[in-house]
Amino acid sequence: HARSARAARPTWFDSGMERALIERSELEQAIRVGIDNGQFIPLFEPQVDLATGRLTGFEALARWQHPNRGLLSPEIFIPVAEEMGLIGPLSESVIACALDDARDWDPELSLSINISPAQLSDLWLAQRLIRLLTERNFPAERLVVELTESSLFADIDLARNLIVSLKNQGIRIALDDFGTGFSSLSHLRLLPLDMIKIDRSFMASVHVDRESAAIVKAVTTLAQALDIPVTAEGLEDAQTFDMALTLGAQTGQGWFIGKPMDAEAVTDLLARRRSQTEPAARRIG
Ligand code: C2E
Ligand code: MG
Ligand code: MG
Ligand code: MG
Repeated sequence: HARSARAARPTWFDSGMERALIERSELEQAIRVGIDNGQFIPLFEPQVDLATGRLTGFEALARWQHPNRGLLSPEIFIPVAEEMGLIGPLSESVIACALDDARDWDPELSLSINISPAQLSDLWLAQRLIRLLTERNFPAERLVVELTESSLFADIDLARNLIVSLKNQGIRIALDDFGTGFSSLSHLRLLPLDMIKIDRSFMASVHVDRESAAIVKAVTTLAQALDIPVTAEGLEDAQTFDMALTLGAQTGQGWFIGKPMDAEAVTDLLARRRSQTEPAARRIG
């Protein structure tokens, strides 16, 4: 009986599930093709010094330039690429592209890249990144690697080894989306971090919600004591920008300052800024 049961098509396998599986395998196949064809590209979100408005750098954010569906957000493809074990090659192709784009910008400007928790188990990650910098002739001192709290504190020894290898080359490390994980503030002293990025979920409510403001203030106060600069994410309006500065963040990024833009728009922006004589405006976009 077991044999015939196995051969029969299971009744729970309805057409909706079948459809979902086909779509999923199509998506997986499309991601593979996309990596091979350079369809994963970076956009660049500007980062500024809050007190002076000076541009400090850009964060590279992956987009999928899909042949018939347009520009797709990382929410759609990063989780699938992670599950498929393709996040490494996907990220590398985006990073390589970002290094090529950013190489000729003002050498003072940093370039931040994102590394997924799923990439941390790759013991060759640091070597791969360092090799990519050499191949693309990009100075390590300009690169900032963003790692999330949850990925770092899941295996602190692994994280420390990675961070030390990268820092030995001159690469800086930012703790991304701080506050969204489950680590405590005291964890901050365990790793040699160069920057802490406060997640935009705290910034979103900071001018209406006293608790969010208190959390941000606590983070910046401790970070200051540890000598680690703080960036505020998700600054969407003038009030949030001002609050970020008041609460002790040094730098910031968000739609008020400028939305993620393509490399060509960055080049235009830099040319405009160079020809500008008056002090930089807070808004960029
Ligand atoms: P993240 O590193 O925290 O990136 C910031 C995200 O917030 C970006 O979304 C950005 O577009 C968005 N954002 C920036 N300013 C604002 C704002 O003022 N308001 C709002 N509502 N959103 C804002 P995006 O590009 O969709 O990226 C989402 C996440 O995907 C990133 O979060 C990052 O964790 C991941 N990601 C993006 N690119 C890559 C990549 O190349 N490799 C890897 N591994 N992960 C990536
Ligand atoms: Mg990031
Ligand atoms: Mg972030
Ligand atoms: Mg975030």
